[in-house]
Amino acid sequence: MARINRKLEDLATRDFLTDLVNRRRFFEQLESAMADSRIHKTGLSVAMFDIDLFKRINDTFGHDSGDVVLKNTALRVRELLRSSDSAARFGGEEFIILLRETRIDAAMAIAEAVRAKIANVPFDRVGTVSASFGVAEWDHSEEARALINRADRALYVAKQTGRNRVVRAEPPETGGHAGGRVA
Ligand code: GH3
Ligand code: MG
Ligand code: MG
Repeated sequence: MARINRKLEDLATRDFLTDLVNRRRFFEQLESAMADSRIHKTGLSVAMFDIDLFKRINDTFGHDSGDVVLKNTALRVRELLRSSDSAARFGGEEFIILLRETRIDAAMAIAEAVRAKIANVPFDRVGTVSASFGVAEWDHSEEARALINRADRALYVAKQTGRNRVVRAEPPETGGHAGGRVA
């Protein structure tokens, strides 16, 4: 029974292709990391990335080769992460890394290391691959979804400005209360 439960739990939270956790589990991990970060007043950042021109990789080399790229990307990410970090497959060719006790500058450096490791080492069957990154630090008040959206917008800027880049997210909107933007 315990073994079956573990198997079911795995099926519900793990991505079978990359063996990373899925989006659902990622949100649970993020919420829990936010709670820790609030208590210990530590930094917390996320780095979201998306493989560049992945459709072309599939179209040129076939879907199976695309799958090999996804698997190998997950391996490279794993090799670079510290034990406190966790990586998830967020969607098709989109990944996200949870960086506990990490402020934005350190998060940018980790994202840059992952970017370089993807871009600088050719992949089996398909050769050179790159990815674009958006990095955001939690402001200790916004919702998980808002943090992810800021990382996503930075990722979009990375795509728009040439791909194979790491872009730092804009700070959250202050909502116009005291301490907000000065005219
Ligand atoms: P961009 O640089 O703007 O991100 O371009 P892109 O081609 O990567 O973006 P687009 O969203 O157009 O294409 C993503 C492709 O990823 C389309 C989809 O078929 C493919 N894809 C999603 N999941 C998988 C998967 O599990 N395996 C494979 N081989 N392909 C996948
Ligand atoms: Mg995409
Ligand atoms: Mg893409």
